Parts: sequence; C-alpha cells; structure tokens
Amino acid sequence: MAVVLQKYGGSSVATPGRIQAVAGRVILQRQQGHDVVVVVSAPGDTTDELLAMAGRVSRSPSGRELDVLLATGEQTAIALLAMAIQDRGWDAVSFTGAQGGIITDDAHRRARILRVEPHRIRRELDAGRIAVVAGFQGINGREDITTLGRGGSDLTAVALAVALGADSCEIYTDVDGIFTADPRLVPEARKLDTVSYAEMMELASLGAQVMQLRAVEYAMAHRLPIHVRSSFHQGNGTWIREEASMEKQRVVTGVAVDARTVKFTVRGVPDRPGVAHALFSRLAERQVNVDLIIQSAARGELADMSFTVAEDDAEAARAACREAAEALGAEGVDFDGDVAKVSIVGAGMVSTPGVAARMFGLLAGQGINIELIGCSEIKISCVVRRDRAADAARALHDGFGLAGLGDPLQGRG
Ligand code: ASP
Ligand code: MG
Repeated sequence: MAVVLQKYGGSSVATPGRIQAVAGRVILQRQQGHDVVVVVSAPGDTTDELLAMAGRVSRSPSGRELDVLLATGEQTAIALLAMAIQDRGWDAVSFTGAQGGIITDDAHRRARILRVEPHRIRRELDAGRIAVVAGFQGINGREDITTLGRGGSDLTAVALAVALGADSCEIYTDVDGIFTADPRLVPEARKLDTVSYAEMMELASLGAQVMQLRAVEYAMAHRLPIHVRSSFHQGNGTWIREEASMEKQRVVTGVAVDARTVKFTVRGVPDRPGVAHALFSRLAERQVNVDLIIQSAARGELADMSFTVAEDDAEAARAACREAAEALGAEGVDFDGDVAKVSIVGAGMVSTPGVAARMFGLLAGQGINIELIGCSEIKISCVVRRDRAADAARALHDGFGLAGLGDPLQGRG
C-alpha cells in the first residue's frame, strides 16, 4: 500500500478544534486505503514559550536539557492528535522521534539526521494503524534526545517520507503555498504552482519562512517531491521538485526581502594582502555567517570593507570588527541597522543575460540607492535602506512581470 506522509505545522494544531480538523483530514486519507504517517510540530507558540521558560531559570541552559524541554512541545501534539483520531473510531499510535527511529549526531539544538530506522512505524502501518510522529526531535548515539533546528519538523517529515518510500511529502501550513513575494509587502503576489529545489533553497535562506532550509536540501538530495499546501482547505498548493524544462524559461520566480540583516563597515584598512583574512577569520572564529561583502577601491593606501550579517549575529560581528580594526590600525567601525536585503531568485537567470542590469534599472527608477550587491547563479541580492525595501520589492515584482497570471515566459527579457 502506498505510504502518504503528511506534516502539520504548529498553527494547524494550535487549538482543540484544529486538532480535530487535522484528525478528520488524516482519516480521509486512511479511508482511501493509504498507509498514513502524520508528523506534527508543537502547538502554536509552544516552542518559543518553552525557550522563554528556560531563560527564566538559567542564563545559559545546556543544549542537552533544552532539547529535553523543547521535545515536550511535539510530544504534546502527537498524544492529542492520536487521541482525536481514536475518538473518531480509528486506530492511531503516537511515536516520539526516538521511537520513530530518527537517529542523529550529537549537536544539540541543530542535530543532523544520520539514519532513519522506522521499523516500529512500519509494523504499526502493517497492522492498519495511523502513525503519528513527533517532528523536530531525534535521538543520538548516547540515547539522549536531540532537536533538529527551528522548523525541524519539516526535516522529520521529509526524512521519514524517504525512508518509508513515499512518493512525496505533504507539508500542511497556514498559507496556501509558496508565493512570488510576501503578500504583506506585495499585494499582487501570487501562488506558484511549482518551484525548483534550488530556487526554494534560495528563497528559504532569504527569509521566506515557509520551509526549513535543511528539509529542502534533504528532499533535493533524495529527489523527493514536496507539496506545500493549506491545512484549511483542499486546494492545490506549491510543488517543490526538480525543475521542468518550461520553468527554466521563467527568468525570475520570486522576490524576497530580508529585513533581519545589518551592515558593518571597517573604514580605512591598509590595502595589502592578508587584510580580508584578518577580518573574516575573526568573524569565523565567532561562528558568524557573513553574507554580502564589498571592498571599496583603495584611496591612496587605504580601503573600506563592508559586509552584512544576520541581525542575530550583530553582537558577535561587532566584537570581531573591533578586534580586527585594532589589529589592522583601521580608522574605525561603522554599524548600520537600517538596511534590508532585497533579492530576485530564478533558475532561468543562468541562461539569460541582462537580468542584473534590469534589476538595477528598476531600483534606479524608484530612486533607490544600492549599497551592496551579491549574486549566485540563480539569485541577485541588493542591500538598500530598510524603509525602501517594500518599494523595491514591488518595483521588482512588477518589473519582472510576476503579478501576471502564470505565463511562465513572462518577464523574459
Ligand atoms: N516546534 C519547532 C519550532 O518551533 C519545530 C517546528 O515547528 O517545525 O521550531
Ligand atoms: Mg514550521
């Protein structure tokens, strides 16, 4: 029998009523004769609340104990969902990550899945039961509970879908799918029917918070199609899969805005070999991920180096910059929190010249100044003033024809 793998996010199990609605949907699949495995996240804001509780009793809670604590959120959800299914007369059994066979490494709070051994789940499915599995958690070689990083229930679902041989993985969420832009910023944004793994990974890393980046990576490595869809209605959502040939011709697939970014400039550093290394090795020591980087042309013997990091890394980056500035005899360090990163993403960029020129032209048309630029094969990012980010997103969305009704060739230019 075909295995159907469904994952429900925290908002889909936030209230008793919603849990009952999920139970109904799950049973519908079972009635169609499928083997059904359901992965759930912690209800509502439970994970954030548990983190806050830890912060009230300890200044630096250990990773091991945090994982024991955080795992209770998902454990609440599986028990309640299994009860709701049983209440409707169907057989369901809940599993923690460990019971579900999610074996991870030792990195508490961001553990990687090493293997999946779902024999207990398999047995219950064979006995005709619905399996309800806790997302976001696993067990390491010491039999300690681990968690898979924020949003990690997506990864649990994808990994189980692969291990159980499901044809695809359904991710049920509180939005209708993946959009061409954040509809709160760009009202004309529309839902995409399909998006490639590579595009989705760029969008996920750019702050489109619909799916966990590592889950998309895992699905791509195993060529597992993902269907992101609404848990509130039956309509189609967005398929994430290998790109189809038509889609390659879609130059720009989406526009992303990341306002949780900050900019640093180390002014007046000597223009000689080893300077960039002196600065960025200090950032690396503090585990700071650097995003866009620009070095100004040297004026005389001196140059400026600017870069962006995620807001969460600002404190660590500031310390690294100060230390480097002192070691290099730089003129000073500037911090700028009023920036945002605006990006366009599209698999078709690889084969289309002039996309960058067009992007810069659209921003210039709005009088928006570009402070830093970065690109990959399928993405171009610009750092702009934060208060112009929404205008930038709208201009790009419009200029690349994303608001039109789904003609994949639009925006080709
Ligand atoms: N409950 C976890 C979180 O909030 C995992 C998840 O939602 O996927 O990050
Ligand atoms: Mg989530």
